[in-house]
Parts: sequence; C-alpha cells; structure tokens
Amino acid sequence: MEPIRWIRAGFLIDGRGGEIQENVWLRIISGRVDEILGPNSLETHPREPEKRSTDDPGILDLSEYTILPGLIDSHLHLFMSGAGNTQIREKQLNAGFDEMKPTLARHLKQLVACGVVAARDGGDYGGYAHRYRSECVESDPIPVYLRTAGKAWRKPGRYGKLIGRPPLDGESLAEAVSRTAAGVDHVKIVNSGLNSLSEFGKETPPQFDSTELREGVRAAHDRGLRVMIHCNGTVPVQIAVEAGCDSIEHGFFMGPDNLKRMADRGAVWVPTAVTMKAYSERLPPESPEAEIAHRNFDHQVEQIRLARELGVTVAVGTDAGSLGVHHGIAVKQELKILTKAGYSVSKAIACATANGARLLDLNELGTLQTGKAATWVAAKGHPQDLPDSLKSIRLFISGRETKKDPSCGEGPNHL
Ligand SMILES: [Zn+2]
Repeated sequence: MEPIRWIRAGFLIDGRGGEIQENVWLRIISGRVDEILGPNSLETHPREPEKRSTDDPGILDLSEYTILPGLIDSHLHLFMSGAGNTQIREKQLNAGFDEMKPTLARHLKQLVACGVVAARDGGDYGGYAHRYRSECVESDPIPVYLRTAGKAWRKPGRYGKLIGRPPLDGESLAEAVSRTAAGVDHVKIVNSGLNSLSEFGKETPPQFDSTELREGVRAAHDRGLRVMIHCNGTVPVQIAVEAGCDSIEHGFFMGPDNLKRMADRGAVWVPTAVTMKAYSERLPPESPEAEIAHRNFDHQVEQIRLARELGVTVAVGTDAGSLGVHHGIAVKQELKILTKAGYSVSKAIACATANGARLLDLNELGTLQTGKAATWVAAKGHPQDLPDSLKSIRLFISGRETKKDPSCGEGPNHL
C-alpha cells in the first residue's frame, strides 16, 4: 500500500489549546507531520495538494472529521477493570500474573479503541502492569505507550494495599524509593486515604510528614524519576505540593490555597473527577452515600473551574479500574467533565494530549505539529460534537490507520 502523503482534515485541534483550524492539509513523511497547511497558505503553496484528486492514493480524505492528537490517560490502573461485579473485582485483586495477562491486554485494546495512545499507570499490588510492559508488550504489540510505577509506596496500616506496599520496618520513605524497581518510569506515593462517602468533605490525615515526603520525592528525582502523589484534603495536598511532587492525583477537597500553590510551582493536577461521578451513578439512588458522592463530584467540578481560572496545569487522568470507570471510554467522560467546568473543547483536549505528553515525558506525542509523530484520532463531525463523538473513532499511528477495534465502550464483564 502507498504510504499516506497528504491528509485533508475538516478540522484540526493541534493539542496546544489554541484556535481550532478548519480545512487543513497535513503532509506526512515517514510517520511524521512534515507540514501543515491552512486554507490561506494553500493557494500559494508550490505543491498545491488541493488540485489533486481525492481519488489519488496519496491523499486521505478526512474532510468530514475533526482530527486531534492521540489521547493520553495520565492516571489509570491497568490491572483492574471498572466492572461492578464483586466476584470479578475479588478475582482481579487475587489473580496471579499469568491469569492477569489477558485482562491487561484487553484493557490496552480498550484504550486503543477509544483513541488512547499513552497511559500512566498508578500502580498495583503485584507490579503487574509494569511486568506486562516489560515482558509482554513486544510479543503482543499494542500501540499504547505505557508508563508504569510498579508498586506504589504507602504508610503501613494506611490506605493503598491494592496498589502498593509500605517501606520495610525501620526503612524511611526515601530509602524505600531509592530501591524502587529498576525500569519503572515514575514513582507513585500515597499520602491520604479515600474520600468519605458517609461524611461530606471529611479529610484523612497525611500518611507521611513533610520531611519524609520531601526526602522521598528528592530520592525519586535523584534517580531521574517523576513523582505522582495520591492525596485528598488540604493538609495531605499541601505537604505533597511543598515536597516538590510533579503531580497531584485526585486532590478532592484540596482547597483554593493549594490550587494557587500548584499554579505557582507548576505542579500538574490530575483530578480524576469521573471516579466520583461513577460512584454517584452506581450507588443505590437516594442512598446517603450516593448523595455524598454527588456532592463530592460537584465540589470537584468547582475546583476544576477554579484551577482553570488560576492557571493550574490540568492533565486528564481517569483512575480507570476504579468502580464503574472503564478503560478508554473514561477519557471521553473526564473530557466531558472539563467542558462542564468551563473548558473550551480545544483547552479540554489539550489536557488529554499536550499536558499529558509533557507529564509522561513523551515528546513525540501530545500535539500535531511539524516534526511530531503523525498520530491522531479522527472523530466524525464538527469539533463541537466533541467529546461525545469520541465514542466511535479512527486511530492513526505514525501516519497509518490501526485496524478497526471494537467501538469505544464498557469492557466485558469477566476477568
Ligand atoms: Zn489511582
């Protein structure tokens, strides 16, 4: 088959959060974007792609589509599905690596079906996502850049058993972080509990004090690894931001002072608001827990609105694997929440592309610009149809269309 040379796109969202361009041509050479032409530059352009017939095998006509960079989920747990069935969840929490492999592969396929080309894993008790990436991805090539933490670090006796382990007896967090498994891409630390579903806004104490956490973050940075910190509530978030973490995960009820702190320090926020929306929809309607989940969600939307006003860098992460949060489709759902919080379509997409690529240190991805990978999602229709139009997409990796996967939706209800 002829390599694709020119792409004709109805609309281009380049991932940087600026104006959406209409009627754009992209020239692709060796899997990269070589040139982008808007309507004004076409007439004077020496190669005049528009005068060529659209039957030309060197032209791909996506004039009925909006194209955008491949999506990035900056927080998920590949070992869990979002299935609500307790037996499945139990099984996923006890399975060995071999039993888990098909599940991990299926979740990666779900990501591809929804146009997600890169993901940052937030850890699992067995380090399975990391092991899968290290051992299996080459024999089963799925075009998702997976960034893994292995197992997260937490305080003994505190929340986080499913996703990590505590330092050894007598070992400091910094010493533990220093021996984090070789080959991981980042370090994950847990510094609070979960959000209460029985008392609105109830804060849990931080797991680590400021000195422990600062030294832990420094130990990771000394190894060249970035740090993602799970934390909710004012004190746990303040300690994490002041410790110099690269990203705050969840950050429910962190409050405006922490948002200002994050804007000042350039820490990235990954709000994972979709988790609380999923809870509010899954818990028995009219139950006090469902009502609190709803209020937690609304509160987070208001925090996201404020973060936008204050200039905090937000990256889309879904915590997929959490109850009711399914791999792939959750990115579309989180994008919808950002638009609800006042983000324009272009700025919301930037959170799921350019901002994620910077956080994951994937320089080739995140924007559609000259010199970057020709990796994009084509969603039928006008940009204003986004993010809903992401439910059925075409995905192109390095200029080539991936084979059609099942449409983007909830995963099957089995391990
Ligand atoms: Zn998580």
